[in-house]
Amino acid sequence: MTVRVRIAPSPTGNLHIGTARTAVFNWLFARHHGGKFILRIEDTDLERSRPEYTDNILEGLRWLGLNWDEGPFFQSQRLDLYKGEVQKLLERGLAYRCYTTSEELETLREAQKARGEAPRYDNRHRNLTPEQRAAFEAEGRSSVIRFKIEDEREIVWNDLVRGKMSWRGSDLGGDMVIARASDEGSGQPLYNFVVVVDDIDMQITHVIRGEDHIANTAKQILLYEAMGAKIPEFSHTPLILNMEGRKLSKRDGVTSISDFQKMGFTAEGLVNYMTLLGWSPPDSTQEIFTLESAAKEFGFERVNKAGAKFDWDKLDWLNSQYIHKTPVDKLTDLLIPYWQAAGYKFDGGRERPWLEQLVTLISQSLTRLVDGVAQSQLFFTDTVEFSDEGSTQLKQEGSAAVLEAIVTALENQPQLSEAAAQDIIKQVVKEQKVKKGLVMRSLRAALTGDVHGPDLIQSWLLLNQIGLDKSRLSKAITAVN
Ligand code: GLU
Repeated sequence: MTVRVRIAPSPTGNLHIGTARTAVFNWLFARHHGGKFILRIEDTDLERSRPEYTDNILEGLRWLGLNWDEGPFFQSQRLDLYKGEVQKLLERGLAYRCYTTSEELETLREAQKARGEAPRYDNRHRNLTPEQRAAFEAEGRSSVIRFKIEDEREIVWNDLVRGKMSWRGSDLGGDMVIARASDEGSGQPLYNFVVVVDDIDMQITHVIRGEDHIANTAKQILLYEAMGAKIPEFSHTPLILNMEGRKLSKRDGVTSISDFQKMGFTAEGLVNYMTLLGWSPPDSTQEIFTLESAAKEFGFERVNKAGAKFDWDKLDWLNSQYIHKTPVDKLTDLLIPYWQAAGYKFDGGRERPWLEQLVTLISQSLTRLVDGVAQSQLFFTDTVEFSDEGSTQLKQEGSAAVLEAIVTALENQPQLSEAAAQDIIKQVVKEQKVKKGLVMRSLRAALTGDVHGPDLIQSWLLLNQIGLDKSRLSKAITAVN
């Protein structure tokens, strides 16, 4: 048997972290077994589906490296197939037309509520005679198609994550609507039905999806039986929770993959984190995984039943690991869009070699790519802002004289080298008879506005190359005097 799995997002929003994590597990499972990963866009909800969401979903999956083998298939282009299947169930007496109006259903629900019962359809139109049907049609009532669910049925499956699962037919809300009223004969087919038609048609062997679909699985198993198809394996993956243990939601700030991207997470870091959201590798000390390396180890026996807590610190840590080992040229490519978004201009000597030198300087201190904006700001602006500590440093005794001596030394150095910079510092220490620390701190305060920051000599060289060191030094001297 060739493993065939699918991810089936509905384009009613951007690619959600929960869907993306489900996609990761599907991908890992497919690759582990040398199987196929299929992409199906479930766009039957015409009012809520939008092409821009489809684009966002496809871009997000591609960005994460979750390449698919077949698809994308669009349900909106497969309506004839679904309608044909609805028709077959009608003809075989496994489904029927129900003419109950929404007012009647509401009255039924109210009565059930008053008796303290769960709301369910009472199957009242299951056995209409042709005359009764004709009478409803003559009244101009529209109909939905309902699939018969026997109350006494027990539906059992062996879930790959949750073990033995069992549902009673009586808990499924009565005969289920599989197609909504529409002007055409078989109506507009609905989610639970089309998923099964597609999963059969696409020969899906394992349905891997979020645990919020468990009740759907019970209904869908009955549909597989009705259509005479082999029932796939099911695997319901745990929900993603926030640190308080509640389902991760919009209130937690970010939920879509494009948000995570904007926040400066790398595709590799995020995907690595998602593999660990609910799955624990056989060697629990191993945390760094590419999709390929995780696929070798992946199986549902190590996927937890309990919800997976979203841990920002861990995501940040993993992300920084990837940033720190990204080669400079690639990291520069990754940072450029963030600099552009911040309005930084690549003029006045800020060319590719200079940018790469800047990236080398800051790379090890980045946790998220977006940190590269703040950490390189002083290299993209003409003037620096002084922190309190920076100003205090410039007011230290001897500071102004040190800076003046550096300016003088620089006059003979149009292009500063690392060795020349070191020499100037040594020379000033000697001349001014001061400690090296004072020279270094004053120089840093003058050039960067602060007393902490990246390597001073490298920062100086970068500023020198774009002609900003002398002006900053002079400005600092004026500020002190
Ligand atoms: N379209 C469904 C969703 O976005 C997924 C259905 C499934 O995986 O069966 O939640």
